[in-house]
Amino acid sequence: MYHKKIEEMINIVLFGAPGCGKGTQAHKLVEKYNLNHVSTGDVIRGEINRQTELGLSMKDYIARGELAPDSLVIDIIADYVQSHRESNGNIFDGFPRTTPQAEAFDKILDKSAMSVDIMLELVVPEEELVQRILLRGKDSGRADDADEGVIRNRIKVYHEQTAVVADYYRAQGKYVKIDGVGTIDEIFGRLCEQIDRL
Ligand code: ADP
Repeated sequence: MYHKKIEEMINIVLFGAPGCGKGTQAHKLVEKYNLNHVSTGDVIRGEINRQTELGLSMKDYIARGELAPDSLVIDIIADYVQSHRESNGNIFDGFPRTTPQAEAFDKILDKSAMSVDIMLELVVPEEELVQRILLRGKDSGRADDADEGVIRNRIKVYHEQTAVVADYYRAQGKYVKIDGVGTIDEIFGRLCEQIDRL
């Protein structure tokens, strides 16, 4: 069976505030482009649900709407990259979320002769973010989606610690902003247009 050479794998970072639609769009992109998808939020929730040592060490941060420690999240991604070498590429959803994570990520990818090809940010106004998350919280079962105070804290953390990561990729000429308001298919179309140019 033919596999793409590892350096031909495409690496997409999906970026944006909590509730911007990264997860929804990531699933559609996976189908269309035959990519692997990793959401650090999903991995963390899995660890917490299975009550692993790693999960327990991150639980309180997530409950407060704060970020998990960089070192833990970076290790999760390093393991992921090591063990996912056979596809057209990867979608990273929710990572990197701080500048130290972005710097570590470049090193991790470089070890495998890879790099980030594009960062796509979904931009959505703050009030719409809060409303979307509260709606999702009704059936997601996520405690961090049910409490408006925690949601607002996640958005605050996004502005304070995460938004700057866009500058990191902008400086490398890899950052593209996408209007995240519209139907799921409209937004998907906007993302595909950018990916098809790569
Ligand atoms: P959302 O984008 O709606 O906040 P996620 O599932 O991406 O949802 O993340 C849920 C929580 O997991 C975050 O609020 C944060 O506490 C933690 N988390 C996810 N990714 C990271 C990361 N890269 N670094 C630190 N913490 C993270």
